[in-house]
Amino acid sequence: MSLALLLLACGPSPAQDPNTHVLVVGAGLAGLSAARVLHDAGVSVTVIEARDRIGGRTWTADVDGAAVDLGAAWLHGTEDNPVASFGEAHGLSTTRDNLDWTTLYDAAEERALGEREREQMDQAMSGFERDLDALKREIGDGTVAQARDLWLADEGLSGLDARLATHAIDQWMVELTYGSPVDQTGMAWFWDEEDLAGGDHFPVGGYGALVEAMAEGLDIRLSQPVEAVAWHADGVQLDTASERFEGTHTIVTVPVGVLRAGSISFDPALSSDRLASLERLDMGNLEKVVLRFEEPWWSGCMEYVAADLGGAFPEFYDLSALAGEPVLVGLYGGRFAREVQADWSDEQIVDGALAVLAELRGQAVPEPVASAVTRWTSDPFTLGSYVYLPPGASPDNIEALAEPEGDRLLFAGEGTVSTMYGNAHAAVLSGLREARRLGVKRPQTPGWEEL
Ligand SMILES: Cc1cc2nc3c(=O)[nH]c(=O)nc-3n(C[C@H](O)[C@H](O)[C@H](O)COP(=O)(O)OP(=O)(O)OC[C@H]3O[C@@H](n4cnc5c(N)ncnc54)[C@H](O)[C@@H]3O)c2cc1C
Repeated sequence: MSLALLLLACGPSPAQDPNTHVLVVGAGLAGLSAARVLHDAGVSVTVIEARDRIGGRTWTADVDGAAVDLGAAWLHGTEDNPVASFGEAHGLSTTRDNLDWTTLYDAAEERALGEREREQMDQAMSGFERDLDALKREIGDGTVAQARDLWLADEGLSGLDARLATHAIDQWMVELTYGSPVDQTGMAWFWDEEDLAGGDHFPVGGYGALVEAMAEGLDIRLSQPVEAVAWHADGVQLDTASERFEGTHTIVTVPVGVLRAGSISFDPALSSDRLASLERLDMGNLEKVVLRFEEPWWSGCMEYVAADLGGAFPEFYDLSALAGEPVLVGLYGGRFAREVQADWSDEQIVDGALAVLAELRGQAVPEPVASAVTRWTSDPFTLGSYVYLPPGASPDNIEALAEPEGDRLLFAGEGTVSTMYGNAHAAVLSGLREARRLGVKRPQTPGWEEL
């Protein structure tokens, strides 16, 4: 136990002190859950949010009448998932992910593939998973791309077989999961995170409803990017361009990308441990392109195995049933996302996705009536999708980000949970963790009493 924690554990806790006023930086899931629990325990809280909306990396947008999540969309597991338990306690339902994968297309052979090839990809993924420990021993501090090449060689795969296995490993396991380029993703701790049981689900109506329920009754100040955080023996002080906020404690929940960029100044400066960890970690680049059509001209979800293995728009989810309108969501990450995000306009991204769809379906594709293009990579309040471990980084670096500095400056966010970073539930658990650190032993919030 750190000295700060020991001191917090010995005296009357901040949550019991009527003078406590907590300033939470960021109204994403981590900030809202910390604020919710503190507020429900009778602690005075103000949430200071840079954007003109709450939710952070959850954002249910209206794309011409279709509610589509531009950030988090799935609940990955429902058991012991605080997002699920909160939703259930607040009358919000979820629906099982029953997406139907109808089309698998190989661009190198310019043809649609069948069930057999899809099974081959499943087998490649489970084979690579099975051999992870041995590969980790061989690759050491190298990358997943090196491990994948070694594995393909060991398995004697070439041609289409190698391409399918590569797609399953590169896209399914790395670029669409961690958002990171496969040749920059560290092998040492790859695939080690904890999975929650219960399967993938969607919140009905999107994450927006959950976030609204979490924020109800909280004091939230929008459009206030925090520029400076200062803390001293008596309290904390946060400066935005137009206001100064004073409190007794602050919980900073901004993404790792924002901390890495140094756009918030800290006085005293952040510890060398935290700075070294920030240096080692990086943000992935998962992005979406949403295409809302007048009429459905396809059926089911589609998968595109690129000829050059660059990952060009590898997946299109059919969200029509959930969104209530004909909608496809293209998901892409890794190196392709980095290039596209840096160089392409929104129009080029939409056109690029439509071109892949036309090739994949072998037909002319109608113009969408509306579209949405995400820019998490360049958004100054995120700067990437979520944290990942490049070679040389370890879960200890994420643990270091969860540590408070002194007893007034606390941190939360998905990138502070070493066992399940990159997930909505990690963000909520981190918020509950920091509320607990301030002395809320038993949350009063419906759905979180047991956590
Ligand atoms: C494209 C995409 C898809 C995803 N899909 C899933 C999924 O399906 N399932 C899943 O479980 N997870 C998914 N995730 C991850 C999930 O969205 C995040 O892990 C989670 O929402 C992070 O919550 P957070 O509170 O830690 O951070 P955030 O939501 O980023 O909240 C931080 C808040 O801080 C604010 N902020 C930043 N800088 C400042 C500042 N200077 N001053 C004040 N406020 C500031 C931000 O505006 C933001 O509101 C996805 C993420 C992305 C990007």
